[in-house]
Amino acid sequence: MHLIMGCPMFALTLIRISKAVALDRVGEKPCHKSEFEQAHRGKIVPAAVGRGFGFMKKVMRATRWLALSFSLVAAAVLGDSPENKQALATTPAALVEMLTDAAFLPPEQYLEKIEAARQQHSAAIGLTQLPQYLDADKDPRASIKARELSDYSQTLVDIAQRSRDEGEILWGRIQGTVYERQTLEWIYRELQSFGLEDVHYDPFPSQYPQWRPTTCALSVRSAPTFEAGQTYSFKDPITAFVSATTPIGGIEAQMVYVGDGTAAELQGRDLTGKILLLRGRTEPSALLNTARTAYSRLATGNYGMPAGVVVWWDVPNAKQVAGRVGAPGGGDSIGEALPWTTIGNDAGLYLRKLLDRVTPEQPVVVRLEVQGQMESGEQRMSGNTYAMLPGQSGDYIVIPTHVDGYFYGVHDNGASVALNLALARYYAQIPISERQHGLIFLFQGDHEVPGVGGTLPFIAKYQKLMEQNLLLVLRPEHLGMNRPMDEGLLVAKSNIADPLMLLVTNRSPLLIDLFKRAASRYGIAMGDLVYIDPAADEAAFHPPYNDLNAISSGWIQTGKFYHSTFDFDSGGVDFDQIEKLARAHAFIIDELGQVAKADLHRGGRPVPEKSIYQSDLLKILMGNN
Ligand SMILES: [Zn+2]
Repeated sequence: MHLIMGCPMFALTLIRISKAVALDRVGEKPCHKSEFEQAHRGKIVPAAVGRGFGFMKKVMRATRWLALSFSLVAAAVLGDSPENKQALATTPAALVEMLTDAAFLPPEQYLEKIEAARQQHSAAIGLTQLPQYLDADKDPRASIKARELSDYSQTLVDIAQRSRDEGEILWGRIQGTVYERQTLEWIYRELQSFGLEDVHYDPFPSQYPQWRPTTCALSVRSAPTFEAGQTYSFKDPITAFVSATTPIGGIEAQMVYVGDGTAAELQGRDLTGKILLLRGRTEPSALLNTARTAYSRLATGNYGMPAGVVVWWDVPNAKQVAGRVGAPGGGDSIGEALPWTTIGNDAGLYLRKLLDRVTPEQPVVVRLEVQGQMESGEQRMSGNTYAMLPGQSGDYIVIPTHVDGYFYGVHDNGASVALNLALARYYAQIPISERQHGLIFLFQGDHEVPGVGGTLPFIAKYQKLMEQNLLLVLRPEHLGMNRPMDEGLLVAKSNIADPLMLLVTNRSPLLIDLFKRAASRYGIAMGDLVYIDPAADEAAFHPPYNDLNAISSGWIQTGKFYHSTFDFDSGGVDFDQIEKLARAHAFIIDELGQVAKADLHRGGRPVPEKSIYQSDLLKILMGNN
């Protein structure tokens, strides 16, 4: 066995040695070497091998066994096997040269190329979501089904798409628009169709002035590799929050790349009059993205006052992301400092690759146009739709889900609206004698700016009821996003959802246990953590807005794809997950039938006075940028 394997190896070694000796003898230097050979020069030592050749022959004659051993050693020393047959390149220069043009394409062609390449290497296998643990045949809540939930969601998507078709640049079920009102009206009719009797639609003006963009345009006017007169217009720039505006027709200026816009990247630079390409990292989401800190740093003018900023999001497979550059907690007006817009990951990659090719003679020149205006509440009617379903105790569980949202708004917040509708349909069929606590299915508008909305007029209207009979706020938000398998080259949906984060404002042991049991029963991925800060519409039930001694709870997941077009374009939200979650919410509601408010306060801790948006935790996170 050893001999058989050893002999060819030995023969090969001899051939190599002979070649090496021959080269050495005629005094040739192994020149005109390929890059590969140059890289491996250290492993080929012709002169030394030549000197050892005579001795080797003697050893061979002495014993075949020794010869074999030598051949094996020689193979290792002389580089018979170590050529890495899979190395993409073996010198820095070769690697850089090979890759320079591999991905240098306008975003549309880039997408085609990467899709085709992925299809060559992988294929979908039709995986289904991990099922609930509770046997569906024994589940009293099994009439809540994925199909019902996805149908509701599709109606919400249809309304959003209509807004785009009708020319809205900032499209979706945007607060204070006719599309939000159509949503509220549709929900009103649905609630009535479930047989619910106490259904309301309360219109009110948007409580905060709203930004309405009318032009968001970005085009390359000249760049390396462009012919004279050639231009390129980006398809989907979006400025979703208030911005300084440009003159009509836009501003034209040289573009420069400022990376993440950290101070380290900006030191010594003069950005005066430039339009900046700024990488916006969604760490952990567009809600708390790195461009917030960086935009303000740029707008101070400490590095020269730029003419504008283009934020390039890092969200894969998302053409548009409604991300902010201002301060969290409602500090959007910071965005009035400089005109700004945002572009998707693929679009920004193209722009950066153009900037990679810049020379002093050939810069990248872009034109940026941002037009829009602030509109008052009177111009932007919003509203709430809700159904009140009484129970035996006289106390109520309020289930708020905001109906407004950016783009398709399935992740934020259509899937959770669908879940709330399914709960309303489900409980409408259960007689009052079997329901301990009342339920309020609240579908509020006016949420996104600043983030607490329709719950405020709702509480104002029902102040006394909320003071005396509010058992719990159970708030579902941003639910059902699939956790993608992401290996960079290969990306796919997986059979689990992104783990959820649990809110229980007073850390009630009973409530935490209840959510944990619901998660176990229905197979819901969640983090091993409870957080205590009301940060969305539930904030209205707590100081500084209202002092109701309220307890808010609920699951949420924000993450990478928040406020992006990924949720529908890439099927990011999975309704088998929403099915499990809707049943889990019903389980929580049913279990709450056995408890009173005192039980929920037992073992609880006070809610922090300071908003999370002004916390040290958030300052640390943003201070990293
Ligand atoms: Zn939301």
